[in-house]
Amino acid sequence: MLQQTRVETARPYFERFIETFPSVEALAAADVEAVLSHWSGLGYYQRARRLHAAARRIVEEGGEFPTTLEGWLELPGVGRYTAAAVTSIVLAVREPAIDGNVMRVVSRLLGQEEDPKKKVGSRAIEARARDLLDPERPGDSNQAIMELGATLCRPRRPRCSMCPLESDCRAATTGEPERYPVLGQRLPLLRHRRQVAVVESTGRLLLFRRPVDSARMAGIWELPWSDWARKEKSEVALGDRYGGRGEVGVTRGRLRHCVTNRLFQIEVVEAKLRSGLEVAEGPEAGWFSRPELAGVPVTGLVGKVLKLLDG
Ligand code: SF4
Repeated sequence: MLQQTRVETARPYFERFIETFPSVEALAAADVEAVLSHWSGLGYYQRARRLHAAARRIVEEGGEFPTTLEGWLELPGVGRYTAAAVTSIVLAVREPAIDGNVMRVVSRLLGQEEDPKKKVGSRAIEARARDLLDPERPGDSNQAIMELGATLCRPRRPRCSMCPLESDCRAATTGEPERYPVLGQRLPLLRHRRQVAVVESTGRLLLFRRPVDSARMAGIWELPWSDWARKEKSEVALGDRYGGRGEVGVTRGRLRHCVTNRLFQIEVVEAKLRSGLEVAEGPEAGWFSRPELAGVPVTGLVGKVLKLLDG
């Protein structure tokens, strides 16, 4: 949950998740839909699927958690960072856990001009991070560097005068610590315009399920949408995407929604199905009341649109 989300945002999700799935056995026994619904709003649903798959693997193999870094790396969804963080903290394995915060701290200590995301740069970061590790307390040591990155060595205005590593830090001596890490080209921002349709009947909203083989948000429910077009065209576009024919009504508002490097400018419109309430073809459709929506995995955008409608 914390890989792309701030602690304050993730906390209520985490608490609800742990309450519902208090053990690896409970998580493994749960239906994937239930797991996804508890992840709903956090994005990156593939992580929830993999977490669920990892729980199943652990239970299938006897219910014991792996006891080595390599064992953790074999679990679905567990990469180098997660494996190093877990095993250094729980098993005192001497492995640096390099997340974004640690990468920033170490690249500043080194005054590194290479892009830390490229091979040469990342090797240097790993070597220095390994040097920093206290062999007796690798877990505490990893957490200390992560915490330093989150509190003092922040992306903007690092507080070097309070930093215990200042005397060892090349970036601090340049007087421009913020210049590090030196990152290569970022992905360009792609702008999209979209129309999202609110189709309501007897207090229920019409949602569609994204195909299970989608590259993004597979199996997650979303509101019907089409690329933003003139009114008469958007009715056709919605019909082409979802089957049946709709009637687009008034605009309920506009909002912006960002997914990695894609910025969506969204117009939220009311819409009706012309030929009754059946969606005969196209992807799986469903009607949901507000309380029912809490029990299914929905995209983050659904939450934003509901807020706008309640606004
Ligand atoms: S001295 Fe400044 S730039 Fe260097 S690690 Fe500490 S906070 Fe970061």
